[in-house]
Amino acid sequence: MSEKTIFKKIIDGEIPAEVVHEDEHCLAFHDVAPQAPVHVLVIPKKEIRSWAHLTDEDGPLYGHMCLVIQRLAAELGLDGGYRVVVNCGADAAQSVDHFHFHLLGGRKFDWPPG
Ligand code: AMP
Repeated sequence: MSEKTIFKKIIDGEIPAEVVHEDEHCLAFHDVAPQAPVHVLVIPKKEIRSWAHLTDEDGPLYGHMCLVIQRLAAELGLDGGYRVVVNCGADAAQSVDHFHFHLLGGRKFDWPPG
């Protein structure tokens, strides 16, 4: 069996995280190395390796996580806008092999991204 990712360890309560939302399907917590004044990660409790591993059956879960992000952005006061990012695979610098959204806000962002 492959080793647990750091996010699976957070889901299982083996390492701490600053949790801002939890329900039966997903967990949201502050990124340990924030790239903006607000930087929250939203992860499914189901182990999905990356965006490239999503399947049809994950559609409702994906939609649920999108609405959790929308609610969190409002709760965290991101009235001026925010950015939602998914890094998929090595070229995008995905560093944790457990699918996750980054919710970033509280400052202006450039486009295109680096
Ligand atoms: P990615 O590079 O898209 O895979 O994003 C992984 C993110 O997880 C990075 O922004 C890391 O700073 C963050 N991260 C890694 N370990 C932890 C942790 N223990 N708690 C919170 N965030 C973490």
